[in-house]
Amino acid sequence: MKQAEKAPINDRQFRVGALLVSPSNTSNPVIYTGYTGELPGNTHAEQCCILKAKADAENKLKTPGRFEEDTVLYTTLEPCNERLSGNTTCVQNILEARSKMGGLNTIYTGVREPTKFIGINEGQKRLEAAGISVVYITGFEEEILKIATKGHGDSR
Ligand code: ZN
Repeated sequence: MKQAEKAPINDRQFRVGALLVSPSNTSNPVIYTGYTGELPGNTHAEQCCILKAKADAENKLKTPGRFEEDTVLYTTLEPCNERLSGNTTCVQNILEARSKMGGLNTIYTGVREPTKFIGINEGQKRLEAAGISVVYITGFEEEILKIATKGHGDSR
């Protein structure tokens, strides 16, 4: 949620935060962080985590191009499966990163995507069809949505 709060405020997107976490990396389990709009090009939080991991892999930094098998993704909002911008969806990015770099067998998320932009998000279904568990962590919905929709629905 701290990541989501860094996202720019506007009414065209949800402000989302994401973390890539590897519990076996005991000294520093959070291996990558990301938030909506962090990297140039209308980026999503999950996408920023994955882009950073890919860039490090290409530059032979930090990860040797592979995630530890226990690497999981935390994201405040269910990963998207459709984007109005036509950019690659987070579901697609996650599936690709998983097949190239391993890990990512579980995704923890706090809320289903609100239907405002896309309608019903099929992201969870598609991830599960690929063998990834999607786990909802309850109790943070109100706070997550408050951050995600900040700047939406004011009349300016
Ligand atoms: Zn997304």
